[in-house]
Amino acid sequence: MLELEEALARILATIPPPVVERVPLNQAHGRFLADTILCPIDLPIFDNSSMDGYAVRAEDVTSAKPDSPVRLQLTGKVAAGEMYDGEVTSKACVRLFTGAPLPRGADAVVMQEDVRLESGEPGEIGVLDPVKPWENVRLQGEDVKRGTPLARAGNLLTTGAISLLAAAGLTEVTVGRRPSVGILSTGSELKEPGQPLASGQIYESNRISLAALTRKAGGLPAAFPLVPDTLADTRAALAEALERSEVLVSSGGVSVGEMDFLKQAFEQVGGEVQFWKVAVKPGRPSVCGRRRDKFLFGLPGNPVSALITFLLLVRPALLRWQGAQEVGLLRCPGVLAEPLANPGERRHFMRVKMDAMGKIYSAGVQASHALGSLAAANGLVDVPPRTTLAAGISVQMIRWE
Ligand code: AMP
Ligand code: MG
Repeated sequence: MLELEEALARILATIPPPVVERVPLNQAHGRFLADTILCPIDLPIFDNSSMDGYAVRAEDVTSAKPDSPVRLQLTGKVAAGEMYDGEVTSKACVRLFTGAPLPRGADAVVMQEDVRLESGEPGEIGVLDPVKPWENVRLQGEDVKRGTPLARAGNLLTTGAISLLAAAGLTEVTVGRRPSVGILSTGSELKEPGQPLASGQIYESNRISLAALTRKAGGLPAAFPLVPDTLADTRAALAEALERSEVLVSSGGVSVGEMDFLKQAFEQVGGEVQFWKVAVKPGRPSVCGRRRDKFLFGLPGNPVSALITFLLLVRPALLRWQGAQEVGLLRCPGVLAEPLANPGERRHFMRVKMDAMGKIYSAGVQASHALGSLAAANGLVDVPPRTTLAAGISVQMIRWE
């Protein structure tokens, strides 16, 4: 039985470098950048005003006060998108709007609220407050300097990142291709939801959650028909799904019972098992294998085990496959409102619910078939073997939604 870190390290070591593709920027959200992009221009591109106001020379208005305004000659007006072709000379000013280029000669902007229009003198304004040099001016290159990285290889293209790339004028990026992910469920007891159940049958509930998690991890899921528990059916299903997917995720049939055919069937279709059994609860019997450039993740059938082992083993693999640098799940700190006990010999990823105040409660029954508590949970706490985490202590909660 492998420790989780060892299992994950072995999986990640076998993931090939990403295959890349060019995509339009408007399809790049959520993808992983294949190479570092240097900013082709300064951002901002030119010095400009952060306010509606007046471009001035700061030294002209040092003595300005509400009861003794400094009077300046108004010599022009520039809107965003225009250029002022003159210069701001001493004791003069130019009307400006947010985003308008700062005219030559000016070194600050007095905001509109600090100005009184001299009613008797239409060509003049009265400045009521001084400004420091470069106040209310956005300086060229202060956000991102030309030639410095805009985004790095392996970065997730977040909404902020694509907005920045657009601001730098880019229309396309090179990203890691998404893997096609086949999703199989094995079990003669399984029935499609919506169909009548015969006695002894249950509704199949893993493909829908595994497909959702696959999509969230950037993969392209395709669900395959349910597989009855015979060696021949399992073999045929694996052969078909391996032809049609780059990564195959199955659930069920990986334990030690006589009806568990997955490993055997995988080997019979030319697959090689990399490892079987990981020291985690739930999800011990997980199996990982390869057939040439295809990957198999054989997850246990219990719905909670399938979901948690997907998060621990498959999700990082799918992300790395696309070139992601960071493959860990987000963790956020919270305080246990009640103890979490793990008397067992394996790390237990326990279902918990954090409230708005950061207090963490058990989400309910922790057995690996219990979906009620999974649905109530908004995170997991990794409780070490033979350990009780006491109420009141700070823990990291792992998030996946
Ligand atoms: P297995 O890993 O095949 O031994 O299955 C363990 C338990 O999970 C059994 O109670 C199965 O009925 C149940 N199970 C297996 N696969 C699914 C599935 N796709 N949907 C719901 N329950 C499942
Ligand atoms: Mg089964």
